[in-house]
Amino acid sequence: CGIVGYVGGQNALDVVIAGLKRLEYRGYDSAGVAVLADGGLASAKKAGKLANLEKELAERPLPSGTTGIGHTRWATHGGPTDANAHPHLDNAGRVAVVHNGIIENFAALRAELAERGHALTSETDTEVVAHLLAETYSSAGDLAEAMRQVCRRLEGAFTLVAVSADAPDVVVAARRNSPLVVGVGDGEAFLASDVAAFIAYTREAIELGQDQVVELRREGVTVTDFHGAPGTFREYHVDWDA
Ligand code: GLU
Repeated sequence: CGIVGYVGGQNALDVVIAGLKRLEYRGYDSAGVAVLADGGLASAKKAGKLANLEKELAERPLPSGTTGIGHTRWATHGGPTDANAHPHLDNAGRVAVVHNGIIENFAALRAELAERGHALTSETDTEVVAHLLAETYSSAGDLAEAMRQVCRRLEGAFTLVAVSADAPDVVVAARRNSPLVVGVGDGEAFLASDVAAFIAYTREAIELGQDQVVELRREGVTVTDFHGAPGTFREYHVDWDA
């Protein structure tokens, strides 16, 4: 239901949790985060309010890093449990994905992945994307290109955001019929399902078009369509107070 991503010089977990709090008004049943740190990927997720996740993070702190993603879930496929909360990871734990929306063809993709030996551990439609992305990334060698290839196989409406331990300082995201805005800062970049999540940090925003993939790095933002052609988007200044 709510999505936040960050890459820059700040503590990513702080920025992501603050962003998720700004999106709480939308309603949700679970929350989770992932950060890249020390060459690896660390994540935490909990059913219930953000306070439950914060309690978990206080008891089992994640290593601190400057690239991170976060999610508040409104369950559509699979009940509101810790296991079904996002992020979802591939079996090697190198790729993490959060998702708003519905992957309509998830059952066929699940069967295909199971046949190739992937072990899926949740009841969500989302988890297939983490596995497909990890698999595609290992052949494509570029996370944004892997996201484009995976998106071409997905049916439904989605905002997807992903990080990989093998791509430090990169966040990639995609959208089809589901909201996604990017915030551009000085040496840092944000993304969210709603600008409210990042206007405390920057008011320079980019509204993506349909069927686009965005790659966030500290130095800037690259937008393409699902086939890699440069994407057109709207840049604007957020001038309202929240
Ligand atoms: N369909 C996904 C799930 O049930 C995402 C739901 C959402 O938009 O939060 O996990």
